[in-house]
Order: sequence, then structure tokens, then C-alpha cells
Amino acid sequence: MSINEKLLRTRFVVDPGNPHITVNTSTCEGCVDEPCLVVCPVQCYQKEKNKLIFSWENCVECGSCRIVCPEGAITWNYPRGGYGVCFRFG
Ligand code: SF4
Ligand code: SF4
Repeated sequence: MSINEKLLRTRFVVDPGNPHITVNTSTCEGCVDEPCLVVCPVQCYQKEKNKLIFSWENCVECGSCRIVCPEGAITWNYPRGGYGVCFRFG
């Protein structure tokens, strides 16, 4: 099974207004390599007009972005009970 097929079996239950990850994007201006753009398997991090855009709604909670961020710009809290990723759905 490919990674894309596995990702299709996941769902993320959004907790409106309560992102479990926040990014201090003002810190990102000094980041040269921007590894978050590469490691996130579901492209939560995007670059638009030279500015980092983060969308947490599809996050599969792999933790990679927090590990690779060299600037400590990412704050992580697990989603509340009943919210967040559901693996092997369907
Ligand atoms: S790796 Fe961290 S500091 Fe660099 S662009 Fe991504 S969130 Fe910002
Ligand atoms: S925890 Fe994983 S899936 Fe979620 S935003 Fe970070 S890299 Fe992407």
C-alpha cells in the first residue's frame, strides 16, 4: 500500500478554533532551509508570496515538523479527546 493510499484512510476531526499546533511565523523569516515544507506528509506547510502559511486541519500528528524546525517556531499540544487524527479509517 502506498503512502497516499494510507493517508486516504485517515480522517482528522477538526476542533474549530483550537489548533493543536501553532507556528510563530515571525520566527520563520530567519529560517534558511525551511524543512517543514519538505517533511510534512500532508503539506500542512505551504509558501505563498514568500510567506509561510500553516493549516493544521489535516495534520496526521506525526511530529516531524516540531523535530526538524531549527528555530523553535512550532508549539504543539495534543488535540482534545475526540478530536484529531483517526488512523486506518474505513
Ligand atoms: S522549519 Fe520552523 S522556522 Fe523554518 S519555516 Fe518551518 S516553521 Fe518556520
Ligand atoms: S505533525 Fe506531521 S502532519 Fe502534522 S503538521 Fe507536523 S509534519 Fe505535518
